[in-house]
Amino acid sequence: MRKKTMLIHGGIEGDESTGAVNVPIYQVSTYKQEAVGKHKGYEYSRTGNPTRHALEELIKDLEGGVRGFAFGSGMAAITSVFMLFSANDHVIMTDDVYGGSYRLVSKVLNRFNIETTFVDTSSIDEIKKAIQPNTKAIYVETPTNPLLKVTDLEATSQFAKDNELLFIVDNTFSTPYWQNPMKHGADIVLHSATKYIGGHSDVVAGLVVVNSNELGEELHFIQNSVGGILGPQDSYLLIRGIKTLGVRMEEIEENSKKVIEFLQAHPLVQNIYYPGLTNHPGHDVHTKQATGFGGMLSFDVGSEAKAAQLLANVKYFTLAESLGAVESLISVPAKMTHASIPKERREELGITDGLIRISIGLEDAEDLIEDLAEALK
Ligand SMILES: *Cc1c(COP(=O)(O)O)cnc(C)c1O
Repeated sequence: MRKKTMLIHGGIEGDESTGAVNVPIYQVSTYKQEAVGKHKGYEYSRTGNPTRHALEELIKDLEGGVRGFAFGSGMAAITSVFMLFSANDHVIMTDDVYGGSYRLVSKVLNRFNIETTFVDTSSIDEIKKAIQPNTKAIYVETPTNPLLKVTDLEATSQFAKDNELLFIVDNTFSTPYWQNPMKHGADIVLHSATKYIGGHSDVVAGLVVVNSNELGEELHFIQNSVGGILGPQDSYLLIRGIKTLGVRMEEIEENSKKVIEFLQAHPLVQNIYYPGLTNHPGHDVHTKQATGFGGMLSFDVGSEAKAAQLLANVKYFTLAESLGAVESLISVPAKMTHASIPKERREELGITDGLIRISIGLEDAEDLIEDLAEALK
């Protein structure tokens, strides 16, 4: 089954008992048992719910894994994956990782002695240098947020395999439509489904896919024990969002190309970051492991004041955190999504105060370009 077909026909189709073409919203917490321990596969909705199960089967198929899991947010998904580790375990992590993931490991999980080293994972040598006797996993985002740095999935997974490490990939930016990290050796793929997968700025959710039954059993044990599950209504909305993921991603990419052409020609715009640009540092690696470049791009206007002015003057770009929605979103990472990263560290990473991040939506590209042109005046 090809990707676009799988978005519509993957996972569990419809409702066997009624013939309904969609899996209904099973708004239910518990299930009647015929006799003690005799039931139809569902006992209690933290453990399993048919609507959530349909979504979990669908994301499993889309990522080409063995088992899928849905959580109440991307952070709940990431936290649950980290619950696979124990005190004194060590994880190597991408340095410009999502701000919330940085906060989780450096301010919460550190209290449980789960140790993390942040490295520029776009360099396999940097990854190799960070390994310790207690290293258990490599956790990467590719492309990253907001500089769109690219990690070589194959080289990293080979190193992980050679050293018996779990290889975990946050695939939020590329989505399963453009990139399947498991094809390149990832053991666990996760998403903030709040972004492109939901796609309509109306759900907060997280998804995880694992590549073995063993990991599936472990993660289900954690999902049921920790309890950060996604509810049936939101599970339904994600299934609905996924049906149009392909057409949205194609159109968003078309719009992105047009906006970038405009930005490249503008004298105030410096340093455009987008994996689709042939001079982008990760362009070749990204092209090898993904089929599209997505709709996330960043550019520098030189100063905090200019960035603030631009943001104050756009009318179609919504000033907001988050990304991957039908509406175009604009933000200043240093003041918003990455504010929880200390300033010195942000500057080390290249997240300057004049850096603007855009998530391209589905508006007419001509309107988006006119909007930016006006605001840049
Ligand atoms: C938003 C985001 C998260 C966190 O997801 P939530 O759904 O907001 O909890 C994790 N990783 C990336 C790359 C994100 O963009």
